[in-house]
Amino acid sequence: MKLSRGYLADFVALFFPELCPACGESLMANEHVICTDCLYHLPQTNFHLQPDNIVARQFWGKIQLEGAYALYFFAKGGRIQNLMHHFKYKGMQKIGNLLGNIAGSQLAKSAVFNTVDVIIPVPLHKSRLKERGYNQSTCFAEGLAQKLNAVVQTDNLVRLKATETQTHKSRFLRFENMQEVFTINNPESLKNKHILLVDDVVTTGATLEACGIELLKIEGLKLSIATIAYAE
Ligand SMILES: [Zn+2]
Repeated sequence: MKLSRGYLADFVALFFPELCPACGESLMANEHVICTDCLYHLPQTNFHLQPDNIVARQFWGKIQLEGAYALYFFAKGGRIQNLMHHFKYKGMQKIGNLLGNIAGSQLAKSAVFNTVDVIIPVPLHKSRLKERGYNQSTCFAEGLAQKLNAVVQTDNLVRLKATETQTHKSRFLRFENMQEVFTINNPESLKNKHILLVDDVVTTGATLEACGIELLKIEGLKLSIATIAYAE
């Protein structure tokens, strides 16, 4: 008997079913990465339809943004937390690509976001990148780029210090902590471009703000931000 690839895959799946990283249920043969139930019920923000959304407000008076967006609301103990855990720590890079496609399809319909030229993921420090093997924000950026007709740039904005944003510090200390953390290798290439800066989760916005300050020093540059989730 000749075993087709499909047959073999079904056979393996019988004993080792692929699980949905958001709810933990077995995926059906026609489901890819995230189960249908989760895809329909994950808490979408629809921030692309609401220019003065809560993420945009975080940056008012700090940095000038064209648009601010997060795909989902993050809740502790919820499906998004499970999803982000698998995405960041269990090597499931395909989660980022899928969510980038979903977010990109929404943003492509937005008059603000569909003019984006270059997508830049918030960089990890090279020691952290080596340890983790991938930058989760780059996976998201690549999924977005497929829908937005934009290019992803990962070697221009770089993180000089391994400093992490520390949530227990005051806003001022956190901001101090982020000073001179990021630099841009080739600012000239970003002149007069619309940049979409992306990160996995936005909370206080300190990291995005620090990157944004550097990017906005470039002549004619327009800046928007997009993240997978917004956490209060
Ligand atoms: Zn699920």
